[in-house]
Amino acid sequence: MTFDELQLLPPILKAVKACGYDTPTPIQEQAIPVALAGRDLIGIAQTGTGKTAGFVLPALHLLASPPKGAGRGPRVLVLTPTRELANQVSDAVRTYGKFTRVRSGAILGGMAYRDQLRLLSQPVDLIVATPGRLVDHLENGRLNLGRVEMLIVDEADRMLDMGFSEDMEKIASATPEGRQTLMFTATMDKAMARLAGSMLRDPQRVEIAGRKVTHDTIEQRLHVADDMKHKSRLLQHLIADKELSRAIIFSATKRDADILAQELLQQGHSAAALHGDMSQGARNRTIVNLRRGKVKLLVATDVAARGLDVSGISHVINFDLPRFAEDYVHRIGRTGRAGATGTAISFVSLNELSYLQRIERYIGQKLPRQVIEGLEPKRELPNLPGGGGSRPGARRSAGSAPKPDGAGKHAHGRGQEQKPSGDRRKKWGAPREKRDVIVEYRRPGRS
Ligand code: AMP
Repeated sequence: MTFDELQLLPPILKAVKACGYDTPTPIQEQAIPVALAGRDLIGIAQTGTGKTAGFVLPALHLLASPPKGAGRGPRVLVLTPTRELANQVSDAVRTYGKFTRVRSGAILGGMAYRDQLRLLSQPVDLIVATPGRLVDHLENGRLNLGRVEMLIVDEADRMLDMGFSEDMEKIASATPEGRQTLMFTATMDKAMARLAGSMLRDPQRVEIAGRKVTHDTIEQRLHVADDMKHKSRLLQHLIADKELSRAIIFSATKRDADILAQELLQQGHSAAALHGDMSQGARNRTIVNLRRGKVKLLVATDVAARGLDVSGISHVINFDLPRFAEDYVHRIGRTGRAGATGTAISFVSLNELSYLQRIERYIGQKLPRQVIEGLEPKRELPNLPGGGGSRPGARRSAGSAPKPDGAGKHAHGRGQEQKPSGDRRKKWGAPREKRDVIVEYRRPGRS
C-alpha cells in the first residue's frame, strides 16, 4: 500500500513525503482508514511502529473539515501519559501539519501556567496533554472540551499504570458523547479491556506484531552479576565496545541514575541522567543533547525514558532489571528503532531473579546468558521455575515459556520510579541484599 492510497489530503501527504516515508507502516496501513471512516479504534502497537503518525495524520485530515461545534476549545485532544511523549506527539503534529493551518498546543504538567492560559484563551484545533494538568484547567473552568470531535489516548496501558484512569474519565465525560475515540496501547489485559469498553463505541481492533516479532531487530543478552561492583565492571567493559555509539542505561531509582551518570562523567564519558525529579527544562535539554550526540550514555529511569524516540541508540543496558515485565519491552524498544538493529543487555543479580522470571514469561523466551572472560560471576543463578535459571556461562537458545503473565500490573505506584532506601555510594561495591522496591505515591503526571 502507498500513502496515496490512504486518501489523505494533499497537504498532509506532502508533509509525509517530505519526511521521506515511502510506505505506511502496518499500524498506519490499518489504523488510518478506520480513523478516516470515523470509527472508534483500539490499536495494539508498541512505540517504534509508527503509531504516532497513525493517529496524527487522520487527526489533521479531520481538522481540514469545517468544525461541527462552535467555540474556541480543541477539536482534537491527544492524551499521553508523560510529558516526553506529549512533546514527541506535538513535534509530530508540527511536522505532519506543516502544510496545513492547524493551530496546536500542549498542556503539560511542570510547565508555566502563563503560556497555557494564553493558549487556552485563543481558538485552538488540537491539544496534546498529560491528564493531570488538563483536569486542573478543566476544573478551573479554563478549558471547554465541548467541541472535541476526536479524542486520542496514546499509551493507554501506561495511563492506567500511572493511576490516570479517574482523570481520563473526567476528561472523557467533558467531551461530547458523539466524539470519535482512538486508543493505543502496547498491552491488552482485563483492566485495559475495561477502559476500552468504557471509552470506545463499537471499536475496530487493530493489532500489530506481537511482542516477540517487534523485537526481531534487537539482540538480547543477559549477564549474571554478583553485586553492584560486578555490575559496574560489566558496564565498564560494555561501554568500551566500539560498536556502542549511543546507549541508554536503565537504573531502578532516580538517585542511582544520578550517581551512575556522575561516575561515568568522572571516568571521562559524555553521560547524563534523566529522571522524574529533574525539571522539565533539564529533561528536554538532556534529550536534545542525546539526539545531537552530545550525550553518549544516558542513565535513565523508566518514567523519564518512556516513549523516548531517539534514533541511533545502539545499546540499551539494564543496569537494574525492571520490576515489571512490560517495562523491559519498553526499555529495549529504545534501540532497534525504525528498521535499525540494536543490542539490549541486561544484568541480573540474585535478588532480581523474580523480575527475570516475569520478564522471560512475558516475552515468551529465555534471555540468552553470556559471560565475559575475566568477569565471570562467582555465583550461579538457581534454576527458576519454568526453566529460567542457568549455570553462569550457559548460552541457551530461546525456548518456549508459559503464556505472558500480568504479574504486578496496575499495582499502586506502577510506572513510578522507585525510591532508594539508602545511599548507594555506601553500598556501591557491596552486594545489595534486598533491592529497594518502595515506590513513591506522588503522581508523576503532576510532577
Ligand atoms: P512511533 O512508533 O510513532 O514512535 O514512530 C517511530 C519512528 O518511525 C519515528 O521516528 C517516525 O518518524 C518513523 N516513522 C513513522 N512512520 C513511518 C513510515 N511510514 N516510514 C518510515 N518511518 C516512519
